[in-house]
Amino acid sequence: ASQQLSKAETIKLRNKHIGQACKLFYRSDPLKIVRGQGQYMFDEEGVRYLDCINNVAHVGHCHPEVVRAGALQMATISTNNRFLHDELVQCGRTLTSKMPPSLSVCFFVNSGSEANDLALRLARNYTKRQDVITLDHAYHGHLQSVMEISPYKFNQPGGAKKPDYVHVAPCPDIYGGQFTDKLYPNADLGALYAQPIADICERQLAKGQGVAAFIAESLQSCGGQILPPAGYFQAAYQAVRRTGGVCIADEVQVGFGRVGSHYWAFETQGVVPDIVCVAKPMGNGHPVGAVVTTPEIAQAFHDTGIAYFNTYGGNPVSCAIANAVMRIIDEEQLQQNAQQLGEYLLRECSQLKQEFESVGDVRGMGLFVGIEMVSDRETRSPDTQAAHWLVNRMKQLHKVLISSDGPNDNVIKLKPPMCFNHENADEFLLAFRECLTTLRQEQLQARAMEAATAAAAAAADAAATATNGVIATAAETLANKTKLFERQDRLIKSV
Ligand code: PMP
Repeated sequence: ASQQLSKAETIKLRNKHIGQACKLFYRSDPLKIVRGQGQYMFDEEGVRYLDCINNVAHVGHCHPEVVRAGALQMATISTNNRFLHDELVQCGRTLTSKMPPSLSVCFFVNSGSEANDLALRLARNYTKRQDVITLDHAYHGHLQSVMEISPYKFNQPGGAKKPDYVHVAPCPDIYGGQFTDKLYPNADLGALYAQPIADICERQLAKGQGVAAFIAESLQSCGGQILPPAGYFQAAYQAVRRTGGVCIADEVQVGFGRVGSHYWAFETQGVVPDIVCVAKPMGNGHPVGAVVTTPEIAQAFHDTGIAYFNTYGGNPVSCAIANAVMRIIDEEQLQQNAQQLGEYLLRECSQLKQEFESVGDVRGMGLFVGIEMVSDRETRSPDTQAAHWLVNRMKQLHKVLISSDGPNDNVIKLKPPMCFNHENADEFLLAFRECLTTLRQEQLQARAMEAATAAAAAAADAAATATNGVIATAAETLANKTKLFERQDRLIKSV
């Protein structure tokens, strides 16, 4: 085992040898996690943290069966997928058995970025087009190709420039987006948000270019836990397909039963994609991902004559692990658990919204929940500071790990391991309630201070005005007296 370092030494070595662009959680007091188990993580002093953010440790940190499957396969053989192996074909069979029948062909990769990169390649090859429609605030990975379709990154001051062949459609956020339920209370918001996609498709087609693909997370996570309005995806997919494009669902965060009611989040939207990308939860912490598509799209890729080879994609260890993960989701009924606990969490969080003005919106599906913090309910203005304050207090005081996201970084995100239980939900809720109560007190105090400062400033102003008035009057009296004396003086002199 590697040498045990003190936390200070770890920080020092990290600062020296790890690129500073790799940002830490809780930067002012980073966590040193040395062990994980189920829905808990433990630091170097043995302090236990309730993990509400790790959607990667899907069936629970270090699930013994996943560890066993990986270790056993590691001790048997790990090689590339140019050799026949049962774990690979069984993984393909199980994964596709969870999908609609048209999605029957897999390509295995090592990460979500690789999956999305390959999905773009498949779509561009199939349609012989280049253009891609992506959603505002989307994140699809860290490779050059997927950074280009990730406004989450290129919208930043230091981000790359958007290429002309990438088109950004609005994020279908009905609370804080372009078309809200408040601004358009009686409108078909699904149709309103899908229209820009149809417009881009038509415009590009008129240019003789067309659009290769529309890519979107089935529920946008980096956009701030977004639940699109009814009919949105159906209308968007229809517009894309009518003009010859294909539809890609990024299920990297939201797949594998997290949404509770379904195994895949796209199923909740009533659509069947042409290409689905999966990763993160699939390996429970081990790097594995896949692209699942139709036989036609896979055939067109084969017809290029260029073989697809990925050294680690689909190696027996990764596949054994993914097989174990999918088996555990079923055996431990984790999808059902996500549904039941999700309903409970949403109900209780909605109750918090009733009680606390700072909670603007509560939304989610299964164990994918967003709590949007606002400084003003009426205007829905984002309260980034409050979100950050909550994230830090939850960790420092309650040892509960949550995160914030969204374009204004004011949406508290919950996406815990799927073994999260009722007790864990209550632990989170109790802690969160304490934080919201303290936040309210602090905000009231701050407001009272502000009011007192403003009142003091106004009083000082008034006093100054009054003093100025007295001085002016005195000066005037003095001037008048001077004039009188001068007059008397003149009189005396003339006598
Ligand atoms: N798609 C989505 C929706 C993601 O959230 C992420 C990672 N946060 C990726 C793709 C990229 O996955 P990876 O980091 O495994 O490359």
